[in-house]
Amino acid sequence: MASPENDSGSDPGENGPGGPGGGDATAVLRSVFGYASFREGQGEIIDHVVAGGDALVLMPTGGGKSLCYQIPALVRPGTGVVVSPLIALMQDQVDALTALGVRAGFLNSTQDPGERGAVESAFLAGELDLLYLAPERLRVDATVRLLDRGAISLFAIDEAHCVAQWGHDFRPDYLALSALRERWPEVPRIALTATATPATHAEISSRLGLERARHFVASFDRPNIRYRIEPKNEPRRQLLRLIRTEHPGDAGIVYCLSRTSVEKIAAFLVENGVRALPYHAGLDARTRAENQALFLREDGVVMVATIAFGMGIDKPDVRFVAHLDLPKSVEGYYQETGRAGRDGLPSTAWLVYGLQDVVQQRKLIDTSEGDDDHRRRLGTHLEAMLALCETAECRRVGLLAYFGQTGAPCGNCDTCLSPPKSWDGTIAAQKFLSTVFRLMRERRQKFGVGQIVDILLGRRTPKVVQHGHDSLTVFGVGTDLGEAEWRAVARQLLAQGLLSVEGDYGTLLLTGASAEVLGGRRGVTLRSDPERGARESAQSRAATTSKPRRAAPAELPEEAVEVFERLRAWRAAVARRQGVPAYVIFHDATLREIAAGTPASLAELAGVGGVGESKLAKYGQEILDTLATGALSGETSDAKTDTSSIESQL
Ligand code: ADP
Ligand code: ZN
Repeated sequence: MASPENDSGSDPGENGPGGPGGGDATAVLRSVFGYASFREGQGEIIDHVVAGGDALVLMPTGGGKSLCYQIPALVRPGTGVVVSPLIALMQDQVDALTALGVRAGFLNSTQDPGERGAVESAFLAGELDLLYLAPERLRVDATVRLLDRGAISLFAIDEAHCVAQWGHDFRPDYLALSALRERWPEVPRIALTATATPATHAEISSRLGLERARHFVASFDRPNIRYRIEPKNEPRRQLLRLIRTEHPGDAGIVYCLSRTSVEKIAAFLVENGVRALPYHAGLDARTRAENQALFLREDGVVMVATIAFGMGIDKPDVRFVAHLDLPKSVEGYYQETGRAGRDGLPSTAWLVYGLQDVVQQRKLIDTSEGDDDHRRRLGTHLEAMLALCETAECRRVGLLAYFGQTGAPCGNCDTCLSPPKSWDGTIAAQKFLSTVFRLMRERRQKFGVGQIVDILLGRRTPKVVQHGHDSLTVFGVGTDLGEAEWRAVARQLLAQGLLSVEGDYGTLLLTGASAEVLGGRRGVTLRSDPERGARESAQSRAATTSKPRRAAPAELPEEAVEVFERLRAWRAAVARRQGVPAYVIFHDATLREIAAGTPASLAELAGVGGVGESKLAKYGQEILDTLATGALSGETSDAKTDTSSIESQL
């Protein structure tokens, strides 16, 4: 990765002491974080920032962005100031760092003056390695004066795409960050994001004044995520089937467009025995915080949420992300699905969408606030999302292309696993479009999809008869296809821009391109929706032949599984005692390595990935004891009993 794109300008020194990732940085990686080596790109980025250079880092979720600013903050003198919009997660981030022995604090609106004062004094006394700040804090004069009085090692701007209006997550407070350079010209700045199209990338760069910074662009591919997009038939059943057959007991996120559907779907899942919780902006702050905490802290909770949920959630073991409504943009889709599988283990990104989604999104755009430019931008985003849904090519190739990157067909998405059939839909398209055309021209009428389909199928419904549509020449010309197929034709014509939709009733209109089809100057290729039965068996085949999904227990030798469960139970107890998420104590990957290797001494334990000095000192002996108990007594403990307390909390 890390193709340095802009190598000009303010690059003060290629390498830190001892080449990429050399010297102090590697020592910190090992002693504090307990990792043996840098991931691709990290070493160069860290060296560059340690040497005082500015950086813009585009790296996918789970790529390891945090270390890129945390290690320079530990190596350089002074406090690293991290600007992050994720107020609700600052406590967890600080807890995770504290567990590693790093001195961290945060300042945001959730604190009372006493807490804030304590953090401020620690900062001024030079006792903080990292200070997290909400962007709006920087608009407050007092904060700026405070920062002036302390020593700052670097500014890290997390979720940097929030500064871009072109993107999907614009936050006006981020615009003020352009002032950092003028105010503290000597302090290096590193901006990081997990999502940026070429347009967003350019906007981040110019708004934050990072044109002359070094740009590091990783591949955005997330090979462990399997992308699947299916026609929406009975969304609840489809979702339940996904959870029951492929992800029972797994943590997951289900995204819905509206608060009402969040509530309904969460209730539906609970009725069906899934541990689901709702999350949306209409819930009071306390419920939201509680639900988020449960999702983070307990194993196997499904969060049903609007997109208000999830940014910065760094729960490593989210096994699936399901969308029941069409995301508004490919960037949003990529970012939301990216929350699956940060630990690198196999995960699912699953989306169902139908004609109604297109109609609804169009309506939202037509009625959205803002000027024409804004609406045009939304329209462009939607079109790209629809193209991804309807593609007959590899989803991953399409996704990467959107971010200006290339890749080969992946073998791990639905279109690769069971290639969709395509068919020549030119005549079907002409029939459909000419029906719309006739209504518009001969009758000066506009109708939605339902009426067009009834006309094509020759149905004398009351509405058809009332309008005399049974006398149109196109009446009954479409009996070669069924209703579902005609709706799929309409959906794809919309997606291809050969038809458009407007207004509250989703009435259909022709576009400039429709004329080319009607005039026979343009052919139309459509993909057939997979037959339901065939699709499911293909998927379950794919699911059983692919890598194990419940990767942690399945990949371990049998004897180690019991040890792993015992370690998880120990971890759950420690986490609950400290009131932090389990992964703050140790990640699954670390526990798995311990279970598989059964280290017999502290020295051996220190060699396990994720066991740094601080955690070794704190938990080393307890782990050895936990390992020994089982070996002596053969006693098993059931991790499930430990987490079952969630039910009583619901
Ligand atoms: P991002 O912020 O890019 O989504 P994180 O910084 O949260 O990613 O890192 C993702 C996961 O990878 C975390 O669990 C982190 O501890 C782990 N990780 C990061 N760098 C390394 C490394 N060099 N070796 C091993 N694990 C790493
Ligand atoms: Zn593919």
